[in-house]
Amino acid sequence: MDFLYESVALGVDLIILGLCVREYVHLKQTSRVLKSAPQYPIDSNLRGIVEQQPNRKIPYAVIRGTVTPIGTPLRSVLVPSVSGVLQIVKLNEHRSTRGFAGFWTEHHKLIHESANAMPFELRNQDFAVEIVDALSAAILDTDIVYDNYEPSSLSFFDNVFGFFTGVRQKGLQTTEQVLRNGSFVTAIGELEIDGEGLRMQPSEAGPLFLTTATKSTILKRFEDAKNSSVFKIMLCTTISGILVGLILRKIYRKKRQEREEAKIRIRLDTERRERRALNRSNVISSDQLCVVCSTNPKEIILLPCGHVCLCEDCALKIDVSCPVCRTKIESKAAAFIA
Ligand SMILES: [Zn+2]
Ligand SMILES: [Zn+2]
Repeated sequence: MDFLYESVALGVDLIILGLCVREYVHLKQTSRVLKSAPQYPIDSNLRGIVEQQPNRKIPYAVIRGTVTPIGTPLRSVLVPSVSGVLQIVKLNEHRSTRGFAGFWTEHHKLIHESANAMPFELRNQDFAVEIVDALSAAILDTDIVYDNYEPSSLSFFDNVFGFFTGVRQKGLQTTEQVLRNGSFVTAIGELEIDGEGLRMQPSEAGPLFLTTATKSTILKRFEDAKNSSVFKIMLCTTISGILVGLILRKIYRKKRQEREEAKIRIRLDTERRERRALNRSNVISSDQLCVVCSTNPKEIILLPCGHVCLCEDCALKIDVSCPVCRTKIESKAAAFIA
């Protein structure tokens, strides 16, 4: 195919375009529900407000309060002086791998993750809302309380092995993130009555957020992300347009070349025929005339039967069998009768 590279590039570009469009739709939806989500202070009126709503719940609401554990808080595994309500421990392996061009590039791979959560609430003085299923939050701002990188000591054998497999271990990184007691956070999700109290959980309207940022900051982040995805969509569309243009230009050029070649072929054919007509002698007896057109002299020998019965023009149109003896034609040659 003449435009294989362009087609492959177009395919890749369209896939990226699809992903960008999906990202844009998602961001737009989230920022729309976020914008319309009402914000309430956690106080004595909040329960009354939720009770008045249909099904006694607000599908997507914003609250702010201080993280307070219900019961004894979790102790950090790696830094015992820190206590919190959520903890996530991750073990990442840093490795360098050899790419196609022979360069070694470094990247990391998550090899273990464990998360712990305990019941907690967001509190404002005497009033509180319990947060349910916080680990499923789309944005979860936690503090990194432990971060340790342990370089691997590679033996000679490991180095040789790495040279052949193209993967070398560089080291292990352990991190621990904790949502600390007493942090002041914004929670966005479904707010509903739960027995005596209130609780917030992941909503069908939008993702659960648990973040130190305010609603307007999150909204701005989403707007920025939305704008950058619009830019990416425009870029991908432009690239697609250019590629389609290149492909169409190649098709057009190929067609034009084919047309010109056909024209030249026809012209040469006509010229050849005219030249031959001039060379033919005008006085020939009837038994020297082609058996098909009875106009031109016999010029072609058919093999294997050996009949010289056709002029060159008619021989071009007859391929199957000899018009005299019906023998199958295997080849033709010019006959020179002296
Ligand atoms: Zn003829
Ligand atoms: Zn024949």
